[in-house]
Amino acid sequence: MLHILKLDVAGIPQSWINAEEATKHYAEGSIAWTLGKPVAVMRGGVSRLSGKQSIIELHSIIATKGSSRINLFEVIPSITKAKLYKRDQGLCAYCAGTINECEAEAEHITPSSKGGGYSWMNLVISCRSCNQKKGNRSPENAGMSLIYAPYIPSLYEDMILKGRNILADQMEFLAANLPKNSRLLQNNIATNMLSESISEESAI
Ligand SMILES: [Zn+2]
Repeated sequence: MLHILKLDVAGIPQSWINAEEATKHYAEGSIAWTLGKPVAVMRGGVSRLSGKQSIIELHSIIATKGSSRINLFEVIPSITKAKLYKRDQGLCAYCAGTINECEAEAEHITPSSKGGGYSWMNLVISCRSCNQKKGNRSPENAGMSLIYAPYIPSLYEDMILKGRNILADQMEFLAANLPKNSRLLQNNIATNMLSESISEESAI
């Protein structure tokens, strides 16, 4: 399934959209600029005047007209367990064990019974046994320390966290805009994903 990265005119990520949605933007003339290689060709109707079939080339990254008028630094991406799992790279925050996504648990650092929220700064990925061992206690009270710190992903990181089958030029664009202290960069996750998507592409 092809996913096209949609930006606003200023290059701020909006969403992943499918080929059909992208085609609509091309057809209604709302594309401001594009990046990346053409990834698909859509065929439209035949012109009565010229007898030619209209053809729309879809690029992997499109920017639509209009600005989303958001402050990049104020936006907090919505949180899901799948994104949290990717942010924390599938590692239990207490024992550093590698966990399968289906077995990973979203662990409240400050328990919800003590006012801890379901938020990027209060959640980490944990294995079931660490989660149970810690129970209804703070890390200090349980004598269990975090091996990594939680953080709020930027919009660009969020696009990587929620992306599926990200293409090489899309990853390059997003990675170039990650904050320098991004864990996705530090641990070369973005670069690894980049090389994965390149090899996937060349395998086609
Ligand atoms: Zn654990």
